[in-house]
Amino acid sequence: MPKAPAYQWPEGKTCAVAFSADVDGESPWIWRHRGQSEGPIGEIEQRRFGPRVGIYRLMDLLDEFKVNGSFYVPSWIAETYPHLLPEIAARGFELGAHGHFHERVDEVDRDHNARILDRSLAVFERQLGKRPLGYRSPSWEITADLHQLLKERGFTYDSSLMGYDHPYSLDDLTEVPIQWLIDDAIYFRYTDAQSRTPVDPALVLNSWIEEFEGIREFGGAFVLTVHPWISGRGQRIRLLRKLFTHILRYEDVWFTSIGEIASWHQSSANFSTFDTKLKLVSTNVTL
Ligand SMILES: [Zn+2]
Repeated sequence: MPKAPAYQWPEGKTCAVAFSADVDGESPWIWRHRGQSEGPIGEIEQRRFGPRVGIYRLMDLLDEFKVNGSFYVPSWIAETYPHLLPEIAARGFELGAHGHFHERVDEVDRDHNARILDRSLAVFERQLGKRPLGYRSPSWEITADLHQLLKERGFTYDSSLMGYDHPYSLDDLTEVPIQWLIDDAIYFRYTDAQSRTPVDPALVLNSWIEEFEGIREFGGAFVLTVHPWISGRGQRIRLLRKLFTHILRYEDVWFTSIGEIASWHQSSANFSTFDTKLKLVSTNVTL
């Protein structure tokens, strides 16, 4: 059996770690309930905890460990909380695009996706004076049209797919992969009685440490994703503190932003070694 080639990291490093936060706040709720004049406010208030409180606790935690982080912000959230983008940028963290209303990209057509990107970029330019280089799709879905639009708009990387567990090139766009296993929502998202009971953070810590150790063993990128409305709560800040303490014991771990990982990928031989093409799968098959 041929062996998968090893990903090459900067001198002295065996793997990369990145912390990312998707600053969704109440925007997914707004998209889900679009066109409705009134609705209950319980979930909205729960989600507002993110931009009001959670994001600051997460930024403080990164500062405590003197590590960088990447924040993906729907532009509706940036407009609703206009201090947010400038504050995150002023503290030295990376910012990336994440839709306008956190739209599901597979529920809208190509033109609509183009309008969302342009609207989002305009908000970033107005508030920060520059465009973000990175994109993360809401709900981690991508269409071929959107992938093309990202390249046309000058994004240098996407971070929404899971085709490898280290960076790769997909149709010449750098992909810094995420994965569900190291996302807080699948363990802790609880909005009503239909939600699953949140998992004990001690079990999640063990699971995340095991995945980190596995990625270090195989030389990949551990890209953690959290949401301030979910992980800004006390027990989860404490969970993250324990995780960071474990990870930062290793000097061969490159703890950096997703943008830095993408830049490394583009400037190294990895870009051509892990070059894949976007192949569309036809569902029009006869079984
Ligand atoms: Zn999101």
